[in-house]
Amino acid sequence: MAESLAEAVSRRRTFAIIAHPDAGKTTLTEKLLLFGGAIQLAGEVKAKKDRMQTRSDWMKIERERGISVVTSVMTFEYNDNVFNILDTPGHEDFADDTYRTLTAVDAAVMVIDAAKGIEPRTLKLFEVCRMRDIPIITFINKMDRESRDPFEILDEVEEKLALDTAPITWPVGRSKTFCGSYNIAANTVRGSDTEIEGTPVNGPQSVAGRLPENERQAFVEETELAIEACRPFDRQAFLEGHMTPVFFGSALRNYGVRDLINALGDFAPPPRDQVADTRTVHATDDKMTAFVFKIQANMDPNHRDRIAFARICSGKLERGMKARLARTGKQLGLTAPQFFFASQRQLADTAYAGDVVGIPNHGTLRIGDTLTEGESLVFQGVPNFSPEILRRVRLEDAMKAKKLKEALQQMAEEGVVQLFSPEDGSPAIVGVVGALQLDVLKERLMAEYGLPVSFEMSRFSVCRWISADQPADLDKFLTVKRGDIARDLDGDPVFLAQDGFSLRYESERYPAIKMVAIKEYH
Ligand code: GDP
Repeated sequence: MAESLAEAVSRRRTFAIIAHPDAGKTTLTEKLLLFGGAIQLAGEVKAKKDRMQTRSDWMKIERERGISVVTSVMTFEYNDNVFNILDTPGHEDFADDTYRTLTAVDAAVMVIDAAKGIEPRTLKLFEVCRMRDIPIITFINKMDRESRDPFEILDEVEEKLALDTAPITWPVGRSKTFCGSYNIAANTVRGSDTEIEGTPVNGPQSVAGRLPENERQAFVEETELAIEACRPFDRQAFLEGHMTPVFFGSALRNYGVRDLINALGDFAPPPRDQVADTRTVHATDDKMTAFVFKIQANMDPNHRDRIAFARICSGKLERGMKARLARTGKQLGLTAPQFFFASQRQLADTAYAGDVVGIPNHGTLRIGDTLTEGESLVFQGVPNFSPEILRRVRLEDAMKAKKLKEALQQMAEEGVVQLFSPEDGSPAIVGVVGALQLDVLKERLMAEYGLPVSFEMSRFSVCRWISADQPADLDKFLTVKRGDIARDLDGDPVFLAQDGFSLRYESERYPAIKMVAIKEYH
């Protein structure tokens, strides 16, 4: 029997994994895909990373610096659920990419290294999740190594993140003796993840036998204390972002990963409502709506294609359907939407709210774009952050200025950099959030367009989007400040300031002008 829209939607779980670099995000992703049957052998995610890296020159950056630059999506099924993992770059120089990706998820898994606790990137990413009320499941990784005391880690989460914790499992043993997880609520124990189901037990006492004799007493006492002293899991509080269920494990050694997948299925929410300009869109609404949160080029060196990653917000996408692109009002045929699995992509004949599909295109789609079945509606909230670094691009061969202009326009449409065209006609200024993005730009301009470039300081260091309630006020400002005004990719005006001081000075002098550091795509 055909599945109803409501059933299909309710099975979807779309999430990201947030972590400080090295906490084990890649390893965990790999294991989720492995247990989800999406890959045969663990190691494929890494292997894929390596293949991707050799694909094009600019990826050298990633290899050299040992960081993951590319955001992508991976789909797998486990039990009754369809899971979409949205990968996010770990390095903070690509933070804008990560933040945009987080607008497309319904939940997040926070991976914490059991020896290190909350690290700076974890904190930052957590704050973004909190801003968006994204519920968080915590996975304390690397329990097979020397680690902090579990109570201490829980305390740290509560204090640093102001988030209630509810341990669902408790580790059996520590470092060398770590041998599984005791599920407090279900009163079951699971050794490694080769065991699909946990074994029913009768309290911590009956689990202690798995440990060396000298650790048994302590395990029983500690676990009983955890049962007594820790908060019970409250799903509502979790969904509202006040509480996190906590799991202990080792992604590398296959412990606790099944607990985590089950939690994603049982606790994490199905596709959420999304706010648009005209109404709130519910995932189970009949008509298809979607928004683009990421553009990726060069996924396949044989096809110089651009893939727009679109999160479906409602209804069902069917291959061949026509969609309306809100920004232009034009129709777009969805002839080849794709799903991504660990090592291959596949045509998506049908995709439901919650799913993420890749839409190949040649520059029609941009970040923040809304697609509908005809309704005039625009999703809110995909952010554009004002750049921290502004540079002029210097071309060695002045004859290639036109080519550079085109290339920069394309890079900006992909979200690699932001591009600002000064009103006075001087050469364009590129803006980035992190310095590594400039390296990516430089490498790609060389590899893909044969354009050797360098960067020069511009006289500006701060950039703000400007608007005013009265058009006349804005016009006046644009005229008076013409030399400090530029237009972004959408033609929206920005004010470029030399430094924070002059920004404050001008904003006090022109109180009618609103200057903002974050623009939402529209
Ligand atoms: P990422 O930077 O967060 O993606 O981290 P990786 O998954 O690449 O892991 C970083 C390092 O930690 C690698 O050397 C992994 O093999 C190792 N690692 C990951 N999970 C575990 C674990 O559970 N136990 C141990 N001992 N090492 C782990």
